[in-house]
Amino acid sequence: MLARNTSETTRRISPRWLLAAAAIVVVGFTAICGSVLMSMRRGDEKLAHQTLGNLASSIDADVARNVELYDLSLRNVVSNMTSPELVEISRPMRQLILFDHAATARHFGAIQVMDVAGNVTLDSSTLDPKQQNFADDEFFKVHKRDPLFGLYISKPMLHQGHYGIVLSRRIAARDGTFIGVVSGFIRYSYFHEMVDRLQLEPADIITVLRQDGVIVMRAPFDMDVIGRDVSKMRGVQKALAYFSGSYVGRASNDDIERLFVWREGAHPLIVMVGRSTDVIFGQWRKDALQIGGAMGALGLIACALMLILAREMGKRGKMEDRMARLAMTDGLTGLANRRHFDVVLEKEWQRAQRTRAPISLLMIDADHFKTFNDSFGHQAGDLVLCGIAWSIARHAKRASDCAARYGGEEFALILPGLSLADAIELGERIRIEVGHLERDGMTTTTISVGAACFVPSSLTTSNDLISDADGALYAAKAHGRNQTWPVAPRQKSLAA
Ligand code: GH3
Ligand code: MG
Ligand code: MG
Repeated sequence: MLARNTSETTRRISPRWLLAAAAIVVVGFTAICGSVLMSMRRGDEKLAHQTLGNLASSIDADVARNVELYDLSLRNVVSNMTSPELVEISRPMRQLILFDHAATARHFGAIQVMDVAGNVTLDSSTLDPKQQNFADDEFFKVHKRDPLFGLYISKPMLHQGHYGIVLSRRIAARDGTFIGVVSGFIRYSYFHEMVDRLQLEPADIITVLRQDGVIVMRAPFDMDVIGRDVSKMRGVQKALAYFSGSYVGRASNDDIERLFVWREGAHPLIVMVGRSTDVIFGQWRKDALQIGGAMGALGLIACALMLILAREMGKRGKMEDRMARLAMTDGLTGLANRRHFDVVLEKEWQRAQRTRAPISLLMIDADHFKTFNDSFGHQAGDLVLCGIAWSIARHAKRASDCAARYGGEEFALILPGLSLADAIELGERIRIEVGHLERDGMTTTTISVGAACFVPSSLTTSNDLISDADGALYAAKAHGRNQTWPVAPRQKSLAA
């Protein structure tokens, strides 16, 4: 039988709130850590884009400069070949006019002029060119077929005893008729030397593509890849469509994921540089693993500590609740004790004052209890007190009712909102029930009940209610006990 009106509990932090707060803190820290790591990753990615873009640009500039230089020599031949004076001058003189020194550069082959049938008629390296025919070569056929082609860069091929690419232009008469082709040759040694000068990371790839997607140069040098048409590859299609850009993908000959960045100059070649994402994000991955691992471990420790703390708080809370309940409860009967009675009465009194509602109080006392104790002993007396308490508690049905042991064999029942008549009726029901409680087939004891009721005003206090109920109890005793007595007539002016 615990007292129900137990609002006097202290406010404390719930373990659930603590866990929720801990979870929010851990999630917050994880989010901040994740966002910092992602920003570090974006930084590395940006740096890689810049580095690879600069690398592609510098290679592109080098290739562009050399192709342009060589193309100028080819254009010179094309424009001078149609000049009528050329037939009249000596062969050494013609050689000097047609060919500048570009063809003597280290990685450039001889410039050759072919007639309409593909036979070599002039060669920058000799006054007496050996008999050669290129009529079946792709570059010759392209110029013969297409008068508007301009500079043609061949697929990588073996030419003049070296591996490289042929650059060629159409020679046309003044009326536009095809009269031959001029060709030059860039040896692969040019690309090898250029790549050797660069500082590359392991697994870096440099690819020089023709506009039709054919690979003309590849570092690391790979004969299986050079000359291959990769125009169908998704990333290459993008590179062929846009002047510059990037994509993440895999090369045609290995399974390494790379970031490819390309730059395309004014010449008909595209330079594409690829770097393994393992290299780009290697350091970041290490850092992310360390920071993420440390954060994860700290988060777990924090969660574990919070769980322990929450469990301890939960235990402590339960213990405090129990202690608080014990502090408010009468040890023998389980009803509210006197201290709790005082608190509840004051609270309900103030509430009734605010709402202008009546508040009733029953004071209940066992009759001739000393005699009972003397006859049957204290232990039997205790059992009877428990029986009385049980009956009172049974009738204190509403949440705001408060049954208390007032002291010794005296009880009190606070009945907020109840009129005096209702309180008397309730007191009677308790009195009759207690009168029927039996021990070994014999009636145990009777009780006397004093009832009082107030509608609190500024002129009254809760003590007035107690003293009225006490007075009524005294009257019940005086009138022969075992009865419920209302507040004495002299106090009625204050009663509801
Ligand atoms: P009255 O009808 O006038 O109230 O007579 P009474 O004998 O009940 O009143 P009195 O004040 O003379 O005696 C009260 C008795 O209640 C005395 C005491 O032994 C008994 N009592 C008080 N507290 C307890 C208790 O916790 N257990 C038991 N068994 N008896 C108690
Ligand atoms: Mg008594
Ligand atoms: Mg008494």
